[in-house]
Amino acid sequence: MKGISIMKLSCREAASVCNKAEYKEANLREKLRLKLHLFFCKTCKDYYQNNRKLTGLIKKADIKPCSAEQKEIFKQHMKNGNSKTTE
Ligand SMILES: [Zn+2]
Repeated sequence: MKGISIMKLSCREAASVCNKAEYKEANLREKLRLKLHLFFCKTCKDYYQNNRKLTGLIKKADIKPCSAEQKEIFKQHMKNGNSKTTE
């Protein structure tokens, strides 16, 4: 049964392969081992599914970093907000 124990991942390893798989960095062997682990381990299965949902949400939201212009506008808003007490 030594062959099977080599195939088995710990939950920690499974989580790291999960993350790699999300970024398409996991190789086929790692993915197979992950699938096998998910088959036996409900905790990691839940984690994997949540992870996938989260990645999907981020992709949908299409989050972009703030541009310098937007930051400047934001700064102005802050200033205006703070200068209410002055005349
Ligand atoms: Zn697990």
